[in-house]
Amino acid sequence: MTAPALLWFRQDLRLADNPALHAALAEGGEILPVFIHDTAAERGLGGASAWWLHHSLTALSAALEKRGAALLTLRGDAKALIPELAAKIGAGGIHAGRMVEPWARRRDEAVHKALEKQGRKLELHTSQVLIEPHRLRSGAGSPYAVYTPFAKAAMERYEPRPPIPAPGKIPGATPPVKPEPVASWHLLPRAPVPDWAKEFPARWTPGEAGALKKLGAFIEDGLKNYDSRRDLPGIDGSSSLSPHLHWGEVSPRQVFHAVSESKVTGKGAEVFLKEILWREFSYHLLWHRPEMPEKPLRHEYSHFPWKPDAALLTAWQQGRTGYPIVDAGMRQLWRTGWMHNRVRMIVASLLVKHMLQPWHQGEAWFWDTLVDADLASNAANWQWVAGCGTDAAPYFRIFNPMLQGEKFDPDGDYVRRWVPELAKVPAKWIHKPWEAPDIVLAQAGLRLGRDYPLPVVDHAKGRARALAALAEVTGKSRQGGGDEG
Ligand SMILES: Cc1cc2nc3c(=O)[nH]c(=O)nc-3n(C[C@H](O)[C@H](O)[C@H](O)COP(=O)(O)OP(=O)(O)OC[C@H]3O[C@@H](n4cnc5c(N)ncnc54)[C@H](O)[C@@H]3O)c2cc1C
Repeated sequence: MTAPALLWFRQDLRLADNPALHAALAEGGEILPVFIHDTAAERGLGGASAWWLHHSLTALSAALEKRGAALLTLRGDAKALIPELAAKIGAGGIHAGRMVEPWARRRDEAVHKALEKQGRKLELHTSQVLIEPHRLRSGAGSPYAVYTPFAKAAMERYEPRPPIPAPGKIPGATPPVKPEPVASWHLLPRAPVPDWAKEFPARWTPGEAGALKKLGAFIEDGLKNYDSRRDLPGIDGSSSLSPHLHWGEVSPRQVFHAVSESKVTGKGAEVFLKEILWREFSYHLLWHRPEMPEKPLRHEYSHFPWKPDAALLTAWQQGRTGYPIVDAGMRQLWRTGWMHNRVRMIVASLLVKHMLQPWHQGEAWFWDTLVDADLASNAANWQWVAGCGTDAAPYFRIFNPMLQGEKFDPDGDYVRRWVPELAKVPAKWIHKPWEAPDIVLAQAGLRLGRDYPLPVVDHAKGRARALAALAEVTGKSRQGGGDEG
């Protein structure tokens, strides 16, 4: 009789286009699917990610059950649990999707070594990315550090093939130990902590079915005009696929395939696929530069003269900086677990430039509050904004939050939605209410400094201070740096 295969789910919580599942099925025996809430993982889950995981596992469990297999959910040290399980069931193959996160790579190495002692091995399959990072290098043999040549090479290397369909039946093996109910892990907010996730269910449906529905709806309604709508935070112009992609409820290959099957061509589809490649680029960067979440990729930034200030950080986190577009973004983040990409860039820029707060503080807050918190994309983007990434926005380009607001939220709809104190401020002043005449503020029922803060950092002074700090690390003074917008 064929030995059962162990299928270790991690960040690939789906049944379709899952090469690890496919390989486990190909062995021809029973399959034991397992998910381990790894208490020894070096980076714990953020709060919003924990919320997502609870619901995504519930969905995966039900989908597996329907096909004949029960998901074994366990909590503990995966380095010990996987080899133990493999021995207990007398496993044939042990399959998982390859992860790029450095802590997960170290963990896989340890699991692999432990399995080797049993004469077994951990088989890792391409799952999170289109192309494995170790398979893509420049002509000179080094990893790509700049997006454009990376994207070009990735497209040349990518082999389109239809995604693997979800199996109709999965012959489940009897678990050798009792599962721990996911509910017992307390991944959801619970008293006495207020339910900060209460608005999430209206916005999100974690799990593979939710992911595929979202992909289908976006291809149908959003893809064609994605290029012109994606930068406007006041409308639903992007796909909102990021948390689904992070947890692997849908694979990047499925997304690429759906776009090509849709026959939507032109700028919309082109720009959208480029964004998926930004994700891919971040994963490749993390693979080659595993220090990325902790250390600046440009070494000169190790001595950046940050000015940590708890009050400023709190004002930013709570959406009370006095810059309407920034506060709208931070409040959208808190209430929905997501923030529009354009606004992520603006809030990040304000934190690291005008406020001179270390980018790690922003990265950590995003890690805790984003449902799509992703080690690679988060760190790569924070480094990009802070100017210390390999392919970074030049540090001297300092976003002007007023101009950005006027350009991308011209009527102020986005600000009004998330910052109700400003609901009655006319569009002309909504991105800079402190410049509005008293009569306008009085008519809008707004007492600045009481109902809504004045800017916590003056734009011009903040900008000058940031440029001076930049000159300190690079040795170059840069007076000509322009505001973007
Ligand atoms: C400071 C900062 C931090 C960020 N942190 C994260 C994070 O933790 N997790 C995360 O998934 N994205 C992160 N992003 C990237 C981007 O903001 C989100 O991926 C995007 O807003 C998700 O919305 P969407 O799915 O509607 O994107 P769409 O515009 O529909 O794009 C499609 C997909 O492409 C990928 N993508 C798009 N833009 C980027 C990008 N700049 N970098 C990497 N991948 C991208 C995402 O997987 C996204 O789902 C961050 C951006 C900034 C500026």
